[in-house]
Amino acid sequence: MNISNVVGIIGWPVAHSLSPLMQNAAFLESNLDSWAYVAMPVNKLPYIRIKEAVLGLRALGLKGANVTIPHKEAVVPYLDRLSSEARAIGAVNTISIDSEGYLVGHNTDGRGFVNDLLDNGVDLTGMHVMILGAGGSARAVVHALLEHGVKQITILNRTKTKADDIARSFGPHFPDATLDTKVLSRDAIRETAYADLVVNTTSIGMGENAGQMPWDENLHFAKTQIVYDLIYNPKLTKLLLHAQKDGARIFNGLGMLVNQGALSFQIWTGAEAPIDAMKKAVREFK
Ligand code: NAP
Repeated sequence: MNISNVVGIIGWPVAHSLSPLMQNAAFLESNLDSWAYVAMPVNKLPYIRIKEAVLGLRALGLKGANVTIPHKEAVVPYLDRLSSEARAIGAVNTISIDSEGYLVGHNTDGRGFVNDLLDNGVDLTGMHVMILGAGGSARAVVHALLEHGVKQITILNRTKTKADDIARSFGPHFPDATLDTKVLSRDAIRETAYADLVVNTTSIGMGENAGQMPWDENLHFAKTQIVYDLIYNPKLTKLLLHAQKDGARIFNGLGMLVNQGALSFQIWTGAEAPIDAMKKAVREFK
């Protein structure tokens, strides 16, 4: 197969994605001069486009792609194989094409999240984790936390059935862990607010929901708590500003973005990712 060293990101919209900036900085730093990473905007409609886009990666001889909103689940039927992680999560954020032309789906989001915490010295042992949201990123985060031995997770979501789905699909594989679910409400937040690690995986705090937070204004964090918001634009969401004021330790989604991207880089190139150069590239964006 004729393969060029081109990769990219399939999503809609992707014009403002930081991944091209971050991955091209990584190629430059690693002296991978023939490599390039490009944005690949693929609209949600007509549905046939996502199939054409995935199969087109192979037809065009590309090395692979990242996949982002809204296609992480939609690409799955068109892939030849899934990693065990992607299969468990039910979504793909990285596609690689092997030397025989098979399309392989991976999911590096959850490990990217956990690696960011571990790199920053956070010990997950014995933690009670509160997850706000139950979409695709919540599935990846919960899976990675369970893989890292977290034993107690409470998932709060507007649509409770989606939180229940996560608990049902992972619970039997991690019998030592307790997974409980609640409707995202003021009362449920209050009941679980003492959690050691609070993770916002909802889109409340960005785009049309910027200036809002999935939290009660009158509820304060302890200095010992860690608050992680997967959102990185804005860099400080209302939730993170609130937690920062209370003296809690805060993380935005940039570290997860870099770490999931580093794992994708390794999958495509087989080389270790230059993580500092990738961090520098995304920190400098305005
Ligand atoms: P998703 O699958 O569409 O899930 C969205 C979640 O947000 C669902 O739980 C949804 O609840 C909830 N939600 C949306 N609007 C809401 C509202 N008005 N009130 C209450 N809940 C609301 O999206 P995703 O892929 O999980 O992504 C979620 C966030 O994570 C996005 O901000 C994305 O940018 C970020 N993210 C960051 C990284 C990173 O590398 N830092 C990676 C992946 C994702 P319902 O189920 O009730 O609809």
